[in-house]
Amino acid sequence: MQERTLAIIKPDAVERRLTGRIIQRIEDEGFQIRAMRRIHLSTREAEGFYAVHRERPFFSSLTRFMSSGPAIVLVLEAPDAITKWRTLMGATDPARAEPGTLRKEFAQSIERNATHGSDAPETAAHELGYFFAGIDLV
Ligand code: GDP
Repeated sequence: MQERTLAIIKPDAVERRLTGRIIQRIEDEGFQIRAMRRIHLSTREAEGFYAVHRERPFFSSLTRFMSSGPAIVLVLEAPDAITKWRTLMGATDPARAEPGTLRKEFAQSIERNATHGSDAPETAAHELGYFFAGIDLV
């Protein structure tokens, strides 16, 4: 059964001109890109997106980073897309990410870790709605 997840190519990866290589990996793995947009989050929008982390010590650093420059948001579709995309990304901390994962290859630190992916169906539904309307999906 097809599933959708939200992916973000974060500002560190966009700034380092890694967008094309990451999208190539997405397509090589068999995901359908149903929607894609370049955005520049305000601090307020980044705080809203990461609201579940507001009590964490890294919250202000994370939201500053996420609003520091353009990012690419994508709707990815595949069977089991949520798990499949998180497996391709690898662990949050690149030091712990498996070889061949995007974060192992492209992340600079636990914060500047190149990509985001929804972690569960409810989170995916919320996050997809944060950036896309149904009419955007083609
Ligand atoms: P994810 O689901 O793998 O993205 O990880 P989390 O939901 O736990 O964290 C959200 C984002 O916060 C991560 O992708 C990182 O960019 C950042 N982050 C997570 N843990 C840390 C940390 O310990 N320190 C800092 N500075 N940033 C972190």
